[in-house]
Amino acid sequence: MNLQTPVTTAGRVYKLYARRLEKLGIKTFEDFLYHIPFRYDDFSLISKINRVQPGEVVTIQGTVSEINNEFTKNFKRLQKAEIADETGTIEVVWFNQPYLTKIIHSQDKIALSGKIDWFLRKIVMQSPDYEIITNSPSIHTGRLVPVYSETRGITSKWLRRQTYNLLKENKNQFIEYLPDSTLVDHSLVTISEAIEQIHFPQTLTKAERSRQRLSFDELFLLQLSAMHRKLNWNKNLISNPFSVDKFKSETTKFLSKLPFTLTNAQKRVVEEIFKDLAKTKPMNRLLEGDVGSGKTVVSAIAMFLSYLNGFQSVLMAPTEILAQQHYKTISQLLTSFKIRVGFATGSQKMRIKDFDVMVGTHAVLEKGINFDNLGLVVIDEQQRFGVEQRAIIRSRGKNPHLLTMTATPIPRTIALTLYGDLDLSLLDEMPHGRKQIKTWLVPAEKRLNAYFWIEKQVKETKSQVFIVCPFIEESETMQTVKAASKEFENLKNNVFKNFKLGLLHGKMKTKEKEKVLNKFRGGKIDILVATPVVEVGIDIPNATIIVIEASERFGLAQLHQLRGRVGRGDMQSYCLLFTQSLNLQTLERLKAMEKHNVGSELAELDLQLRGPGEIYGTMQHGRKMLKIASFSDFELIQKVRKEAEKIFPNLKNYPRLLEKLKTINLKQISPD
Ligand code: ADP
Ligand code: MG
Repeated sequence: MNLQTPVTTAGRVYKLYARRLEKLGIKTFEDFLYHIPFRYDDFSLISKINRVQPGEVVTIQGTVSEINNEFTKNFKRLQKAEIADETGTIEVVWFNQPYLTKIIHSQDKIALSGKIDWFLRKIVMQSPDYEIITNSPSIHTGRLVPVYSETRGITSKWLRRQTYNLLKENKNQFIEYLPDSTLVDHSLVTISEAIEQIHFPQTLTKAERSRQRLSFDELFLLQLSAMHRKLNWNKNLISNPFSVDKFKSETTKFLSKLPFTLTNAQKRVVEEIFKDLAKTKPMNRLLEGDVGSGKTVVSAIAMFLSYLNGFQSVLMAPTEILAQQHYKTISQLLTSFKIRVGFATGSQKMRIKDFDVMVGTHAVLEKGINFDNLGLVVIDEQQRFGVEQRAIIRSRGKNPHLLTMTATPIPRTIALTLYGDLDLSLLDEMPHGRKQIKTWLVPAEKRLNAYFWIEKQVKETKSQVFIVCPFIEESETMQTVKAASKEFENLKNNVFKNFKLGLLHGKMKTKEKEKVLNKFRGGKIDILVATPVVEVGIDIPNATIIVIEASERFGLAQLHQLRGRVGRGDMQSYCLLFTQSLNLQTLERLKAMEKHNVGSELAELDLQLRGPGEIYGTMQHGRKMLKIASFSDFELIQKVRKEAEKIFPNLKNYPRLLEKLKTINLKQISPD
């Protein structure tokens, strides 16, 4: 059997379960093997029945003397069985599992693992895992039993059975693909041992060593595929590299017309970009900079140079609102130079046909627009940094330069592994005159005071306020919207009666959102109540206060991004972190927001405190990028990168590794 086979092609049960399995990240049979246990139940202690003690977790083996459904006094269903071995008998109870009497029969030989406890003044085994004893080895009892994350309708027990069968059927299929030297140098167990022992370990030490091996592999393959992408990218040549020096006077004039001078960081980054643009191989650069650090103008300068060289450019934003904001900004910056700026999104038609710069959402790529002369593509606030987009653009037969921009603070170590194919530029300086956003943690008992303070600010200084509602689920569901609407009503009717309030959430139509945002921008709304997923890059300089409800539910990096919606003008801005949490650790973590104001520092702190899932959790639409390894394991990440660099240029010497890489690339375990 080919482990790459999609489960949907393999029989009714899998078809039926396909969607649920997908929730667990299982699409092919191999994915079962990489759905690894998050813990093991130690049921390896096999005990004679007369030796069991209340409080113990044990496995017993014996014969079922009888099994029945019964009712408790309050009409709950209860399953009772009596099990005997040569030393004695014990009663076993389960609750509300009437089907058990159809699976377990009197006289069956059975193994049971679970807790011994008191029940109705008798010593019983309560709700144990069970396994009818046959000739094959036991997998649910009497050993270290793997426990998997489940989803509705898919139990750990079922997953265990699938994995066990797959391992049995494919015993000799796991051919080692790592070079011998790598295995030796990093003391790694073989792949076949790792895959077997991670699921059904003989000892916890073996399980741990398997985990180490699989973590190594995961990062190693990720690193190698990034390097591979980079190599491929560099094979593309550009027919006309941009001239930079020739247009020196034009670009200088452009800069002098800006209403501000560039920060040193912006200058440095522009230089890095210009250097790339002058090369014969296409640029592939990631520009990372905190919200408000001024990425847009950097991209405008690059697009200006593209125009001077006779090329078109495209700027893509993740949402229509952001695309519009960019359209405005870019038009303001470029039209005085007679540059034609177009606009296209999924729902809106192009505003002009002939253009030098096109601003839009990702839909611009599918709009049948003629990009024959495309020289530069800018992708903004991209959370799933676009291998996909890159592929589409290149399928257009062009090799434009590519600039990806993000405010997601990615620690450098991680960026080098995940985006090893991109060159990295950092905007690590805020524009001059920007004041640090004053941030306060507001516990429940100070909430009223905070409301009074906000009221005063709005009245006296005409500040505008964002109130970000609690984050309930990863994607914006109706539940989140309902909660936001309720909070909006509450604030409007009970707290801020004298102000104009607005509501903004992700389920609103673009037109409605625009209306609300324009009102807010124009000062016709004082307080905007919004859900957390709304428009990270929005630029409203007059908004100076942001309140974040249930702030403990966010990662620090996310809070930092949210906070960046204020503090964009030169007025003092404030961020109020509301929380009901009394957990000292949580409060300590949130307190970090009062001290730190650099995104990447907060991201690193987050990594240490909560693990990587939390940083990227919501931004990556809840999708975990790593299944086994952890991004907080800086040491391993570095070790792996060194090893990959040792191997990489000579991948051809390792045909099995190359083969493995191909299967990985097909599945795109890369974050895109
Ligand atoms: P982001 O990096 O979050 O995309 P923007 O590009 O939206 O940030 O810039 C935020 C604000 O800062 C904009 O209003 C922009 O005009 C302004 N800005 C950008 N660069 C500078 C600068 N060097 N000095 C002053 N203001 C700047
Ligand atoms: Mg931006």
